Amino acid sequence: MTRNPSKLVVVGHGAAGLAAALSVAEQARSRGLDIDVTLLEKSSQADAGGNTRWSPSYIRLAAPDRVAPDFEEDMREASGGSADRSYFRKLAGHAVRTIGWLQSHGVEFVTPIYYLSAGPARIQPLGGGSAIVEKLLAAATSAGVKVRYQHEAKALVLGKGGRVSGIAVLSADGASITLDAGAVILASGGFQGNPAMMRAQFGAAAETIKLISPGTRFDTGDGIRMATDHGASVSGDWNGMHIEPIDPRSTGSAPVVLVYPYGIVVDQDGRRFMDEGSGLVHETWEAFARDIHFARPNSIAYAILDSRLFDIEGYQRAIRSEVPPYQSPLLEDLAAQIRVPARNLIETVEAFNAAATGNVGQFDATRCDGLATATELEPPKSNWARPITKPPFLAYPLVGGLAYTFGGLATNEKAEVLGAQAPMPGLYAAGETTGHFYGTAPNAVAVLRALVFGRIAGCEAVDFVAGLGENGQG
Ligand SMILES: Cc1cc2nc3c(=O)[nH]c(=O)nc-3n(C[C@H](O)[C@H](O)[C@H](O)COP(=O)(O)OP(=O)(O)OC[C@H]3O[C@@H](n4cnc5c(N)ncnc54)[C@H](O)[C@@H]3O)c2cc1C
Repeated sequence: MTRNPSKLVVVGHGAAGLAAALSVAEQARSRGLDIDVTLLEKSSQADAGGNTRWSPSYIRLAAPDRVAPDFEEDMREASGGSADRSYFRKLAGHAVRTIGWLQSHGVEFVTPIYYLSAGPARIQPLGGGSAIVEKLLAAATSAGVKVRYQHEAKALVLGKGGRVSGIAVLSADGASITLDAGAVILASGGFQGNPAMMRAQFGAAAETIKLISPGTRFDTGDGIRMATDHGASVSGDWNGMHIEPIDPRSTGSAPVVLVYPYGIVVDQDGRRFMDEGSGLVHETWEAFARDIHFARPNSIAYAILDSRLFDIEGYQRAIRSEVPPYQSPLLEDLAAQIRVPARNLIETVEAFNAAATGNVGQFDATRCDGLATATELEPPKSNWARPITKPPFLAYPLVGGLAYTFGGLATNEKAEVLGAQAPMPGLYAAGETTGHFYGTAPNAVAVLRALVFGRIAGCEAVDFVAGLGENGQG
């Protein structure tokens, strides 16, 4: 008698979903289990990969084989003390073996030179996030994972005892189908691409935030909704998002402009509104970009610099826009180009220059150098305060570019989705679909946690369906 294979479905073709699907196929093979694994992706093959594909994928590890000793404490700090310790302990504990696993599938890691300023040690896959997508996809398909593009997961089907029994899908030809599944792993990203959910959490202005990459729009909160429709608990900061300052003129992906700490930033009225030098760029960009979108006139600001920018070694690394800055030998003319009242801009620069003249110390773009403005300037500038006097004067327009949201499903260290009282049987989630981030996004952790918990979800889901018996239906 032939046994029917158990069936398992993964939703999403980013780091979390591909790690999960491959890990299912590998576990099944190594345990001699007959498990049929299908990965559903709502975009076309050409567009697949969500945020992962467009992400440089900096990963916060001291080296591919070493977690920094302060990792867990840093996670606690970034979350203002709200982080689930067991989640981040598991992340730290599985980080190195997960990177080793990626290496075994052909992903190479290098030590990157990060923008301009330092911060925690990071590694990076050669080729960025698209290399992760490409290599894991190749390994998954050769391990037998069936990938169905233009198949959008719509709803979970639960059976006896609330156990997952299938998933409703809108297929490429517009037909609604239901796939049997003894377990489902949700890895469909956050809800940043869903204007209605964005409005509900952040207000009407959130609907107009520019998305940072072409892959970001596919993450429309579907996994979160599908699980909460059946009573899943949520976690993470529902008022949290990771957003970075980008050049609105650029047509490229993630055209960040991260030289604002070395000049001043003005609003459309030509006035400063922030301490541009309050910290390293990855410590200030999120609050800054959010403030631009939600609190500044026309949701735009301008970084104003002078030609000394070009003397900063490697300054190009901090500018990912292909469009040159507005520039002019005269501030008055620069103001006209960016439609800021010239008198205001000149006044602002003069007041800043007066407060920045005479400060002692050595300018150093790579660390907080302590070059601060004199006390009377409001708002102050705490580091990198040098007078703006050397023409040509430069202006970069900046708007917020949204990468991902923090609010998501509550999961435990086995990547099980939690219901009101207990894990929901047969339901797993990883990556942005899960919550866990509070306050500020911990720098260079999103891809790592997608990979680590995607892989864990795959292993745990195999254990689960293996325990169900024939058909994986219990
Ligand atoms: C420009 C940019 C830079 C970044 N830089 C970094 C960095 O340096 N370091 C870092 O750690 N993080 C970074 N991030 C964040 C990080 O890349 C993401 O958080 C991470 O890759 C998310 O992986 P994921 O698998 O959870 O989601 P995604 O990679 O977004 O994948 C989700 C997939 O699910 C699919 N999907 C959605 N809904 C459905 C549905 N209903 N049915 C089927 N499929 C569906 C989507 O199409 C998509 O393919 C960056 C992000 C961006 C955009």
